[in-house]
Amino acid sequence: MNCLEARIVKDGIVKEGNVLKVDSFLNHQMDPELFNEMGREWKRRFEGKTITKILTIEASGIGIACIAAQHFGVPVVFAKKAKSINLDGEMYTAEVESFTHKNKNQVIVSKKFLNENDHLLLIDDFLANGCALQGLIQIAKAAGATVEGIGIAVEKGFQAGGQIIRNLGYQLESLAIVEEMNWETGEIKFREQ
Ligand code: 5GP
Repeated sequence: MNCLEARIVKDGIVKEGNVLKVDSFLNHQMDPELFNEMGREWKRRFEGKTITKILTIEASGIGIACIAAQHFGVPVVFAKKAKSINLDGEMYTAEVESFTHKNKNQVIVSKKFLNENDHLLLIDDFLANGCALQGLIQIAKAAGATVEGIGIAVEKGFQAGGQIIRNLGYQLESLAIVEEMNWETGEIKFREQ
């Protein structure tokens, strides 16, 4: 069991509706030492790939991406959730449906910060149905950038996103893949990797 899996077992809480709550160490209170270990592991798994930038999505991806970026020595760009959309041509945009909030958000990235010379590592905290990642992929494509790989902290392997993204041909490296979780017993099973 790796350190993220061990931490999920220790502090994660399984909620009804296929939601894993990890807000004591990942997406509310954050544990930088754990993030540092995660960054080191992604660096190892993407060894040999040229990465010029990390692209993530507001809000929970930002902390993880920033610490991971120190292992790659590259900047982080995060897609912002746009409140009012001023489509002045200066932004790449994508529509993302939120798994946890069940609403749709327009996400935007300024054209100043992504272009066709970029080789991107996409990072996010969770992968469920893959909507957030598809939005980031759409933005990367609009910029003409190359997606070199995708790093996810927790993939819920019983939802469709992982298979969809792997079928698109991307190198997807999830540090913990939850195969099953039971909100009544609290039991969590991980995929062997
Ligand atoms: P997807 O777009 O793949 O359906 O869902 C991924 C996004 O939804 C992530 O950015 C994450 O913020 C949120 N999310 C999905 N499942 C969970 C979950 O079980 N727990 C938490 N805390 N967030 C989740």
